[in-house]
Amino acid sequence: MKQRIAVAGLIGLALWFLPYGLDSYAIHVVNVILIFAILAIGLGLVMGVAGQVNLAQVAFFGVGAYATAILTTHQGLGFWVSAVLAVLATVVVGVVVGTPALRVQSHYLGIVTLGLALAFTNWVTNAEIAGGAEGISAIPAPTLPGIDLSSEYLYYYLELAVFAVVLTFGLFVVRTGLGRRMRAMRDDALAAGALGAEVPVLRMTAFMLASVYGGVAGVLYAGLIRYVAPESFNIANMFLLLGMVIIGGRQSLIGCVIGAVSLALVREALVDHPTIAQVAYGSVVVLVVVFAPTGLAGLPTRIRALLARRRGHQGTAAQLQPFQPYETSPADDTRRTTAILEVEHVSKQFRGLKALDDVSLTVADREIRGIVGPNGSGKTTLFNVISGLYRPTAGRVRFLGRDMTGQAPYRLARAGMSRTFQNLRLFGDLTVEENLLVALDRSRTRQSWRYVLRPISVLRRDRDLHRQAREVLTRYGLTEFAGLAPKALPYGIQRRVEIARAVAAAPTLLLLDEPAAGLNGEEVRQLSEIVRSIRDSGLTVIIIEHNMGLVMSLCEQITVLASGRIIAEGRPDEVARDAAVIEAYLGDSMTADDLPTVPEVTR
Ligand code: ADP
Ligand code: MG
Repeated sequence: MKQRIAVAGLIGLALWFLPYGLDSYAIHVVNVILIFAILAIGLGLVMGVAGQVNLAQVAFFGVGAYATAILTTHQGLGFWVSAVLAVLATVVVGVVVGTPALRVQSHYLGIVTLGLALAFTNWVTNAEIAGGAEGISAIPAPTLPGIDLSSEYLYYYLELAVFAVVLTFGLFVVRTGLGRRMRAMRDDALAAGALGAEVPVLRMTAFMLASVYGGVAGVLYAGLIRYVAPESFNIANMFLLLGMVIIGGRQSLIGCVIGAVSLALVREALVDHPTIAQVAYGSVVVLVVVFAPTGLAGLPTRIRALLARRRGHQGTAAQLQPFQPYETSPADDTRRTTAILEVEHVSKQFRGLKALDDVSLTVADREIRGIVGPNGSGKTTLFNVISGLYRPTAGRVRFLGRDMTGQAPYRLARAGMSRTFQNLRLFGDLTVEENLLVALDRSRTRQSWRYVLRPISVLRRDRDLHRQAREVLTRYGLTEFAGLAPKALPYGIQRRVEIARAVAAAPTLLLLDEPAAGLNGEEVRQLSEIVRSIRDSGLTVIIIEHNMGLVMSLCEQITVLASGRIIAEGRPDEVARDAAVIEAYLGDSMTADDLPTVPEVTR
């Protein structure tokens, strides 16, 4: 930390004295580079951090610049008033561009945003108010009392101040709740939604953020060059910007800045050879994508990992610590008498296939319900319907007495439902601790204005979340893995992280989809202990499981599915004797081990 502050201080000092060594042309180049760096940070936020393809960043830039030009020259407004209005106008455009993001997925989003960017250049080239192909000239220089900003040397300090503020703000966003949710959405939008992240709003917020950066850069550009024309905002520049973000490293804002500076310098060096320049950017981008997909900023980490592997470090030697049981919640009299979950006559049809056929079940408070059945019998589909990933073809789902049929997953999550996935869906590029933080953080995305108006309260809240995350890590014996990426961990540990994450969301109902798949005997025994403790702390659990020993010893009630229908339901011993169940299991090509038998696993 101290080291970082020292480095930042040194860089700050160097930037402060930079103009003293530059001639008037060089300072102009530096000023343009700073503007590109601000644009690249904005693009890095939406594309790298939030994972949304945005080819309209150059249009945001253009709107900011053109709005400043039009307002100062045609309307005769002062520079600063125009600047504020221009940024607002850009945000409005950002919202418009972000609207398709509410619906379409990323590659289509690329096409939509590209279309909007082209429409913008087209419009400014033809619109009379924008001066057509000639553009708008004679934009007044911004004024500050006592400082002549028409001098590029002094303008540099204005840009530097703005750059410092927007970079700090960007880093602040990335390292706290909002940025974490965006990164979670980028890694796995479905899992993020199931943990309560309002994915559509989050996408929109990312576009708005990018547009603010575009608008600010546009204003600075208009004030610097004092002339705007369509070619400054064309697609070639968009690709240059894209190259900056890819080369520097999409996921690191500092990387975006590094990328902006390096590519801008290359462009400057090749200014007399535009064709070579285009080919050069293209080749560099391709090389980076192939050999350093995490960009320049990701290189140190990759090199360190490579060296560690050379030296023979096989990951970590860290051990999973024992789970520490929850405190048992007060006795039975606090139990709800109403059902936690009521599934009523639910059917789910996939084209010709009826994955669920008139399924009804009721789960009482603090029950552990087992759902068993052969492969393909519709168990996961049932979870997907319950948790809002699928809308049922027919029937209703009531959760805590409220009809929640067809509600978005994040709404169900916020109402108190949490789940794990059969094929693990951890956020791969977040650390184990950050995975938990995403679940712990229940703040709403629409409260993001706090980042501007109440940054201290955001920071305080984040500190509190980190404390809670450490508690969860300790309870699940995961402390040693806190800072690691989940994908580097053994399967058994990943499974435990996923359960810890689901419970960290503080649900009323927990859905576990085959949590024992791939675990060894000892791990299964621990899992059984963990699930029972979770229930004893006051949660209701539904568990899909193939491991019959586990289901039989753990569950109070078992529902048996076969070909999308419920063929039996009752206590484990009743179900085990049921003729239809035995037949369904023998019909499926399962081994005798899978036959429901009386528990072998001890309680
Ligand atoms: P289980 O979890 O019990 O093994 P699933 O619920 O995953 O079974 O699947 C039930 C049936 O529905 C299977 O035949 C599967 O192929 C089909 N199915 C599941 N999801 C889809 C989907 N998204 N599209 C089409 N078919 C699906
Ligand atoms: Mg399944």
